[in-house]
Amino acid sequence: MDSIERLTEFFRQFPGIGPRQARRFVYFLLTRDREYVKGLMESVEKVRQSVSICTSCFRFFTKEKASIHAGVFSSSSICQICSDTSRDTSLRMIVAKDADLEAVEKSHSYHGLYFVLGGNIPILEKNPEQKVRLRELNKLMESVGNRASEDKNNEPKKLKEIILSFSTNSEGEHTTLTIKQILEPFAEANGFKVSILGRGLSTGAELEYSDGNTISEALKNRS
Ligand SMILES: [Zn+2]
Repeated sequence: MDSIERLTEFFRQFPGIGPRQARRFVYFLLTRDREYVKGLMESVEKVRQSVSICTSCFRFFTKEKASIHAGVFSSSSICQICSDTSRDTSLRMIVAKDADLEAVEKSHSYHGLYFVLGGNIPILEKNPEQKVRLRELNKLMESVGNRASEDKNNEPKKLKEIILSFSTNSEGEHTTLTIKQILEPFAEANGFKVSILGRGLSTGAELEYSDGNTISEALKNRS
């Protein structure tokens, strides 16, 4: 494999990129000057160093720099949303991916916590737990159960509602139904509600590309 083919293979693994586009990326890079390529490589490296995954909601977040001069990043494993004490911890919204969470954040209509599932569940998938974070979701639900059985004043507010916010295409609908089934026994045992984002989102709509007003309406119309 020559070096052009090798780099093409890397780009081919990007979501939505076919072999021809991958090759175009390679030729594009070849036309750029050294500075551009150097900047790109440094940015990739930096993003790997400074971004980690939140152990509570599983979103990617940029760790704050503890010391800008030393370039050392803090080792916090909890993201800025999860550690924000002004957020309503009685609400948890489950979304498929980080881009969906960002769209909801931009709408400024939701102030609870999140859980990023890591994708939609493919319709004919036999082992969905290998594709998305079902084990992690189960763990979260178990911790909700444990918290409900304790009674402490300093504990975060009891979970009141989980909002399922998936796209309205067939995979999104399938994911909503599957997750609802998983959550129902926990909801019954711990007295929280499971709601689904209202269909203010038109059929086939992707949460990621919905504007703030649409998301805000869909939130109001959840059922
Ligand atoms: Zn988080």
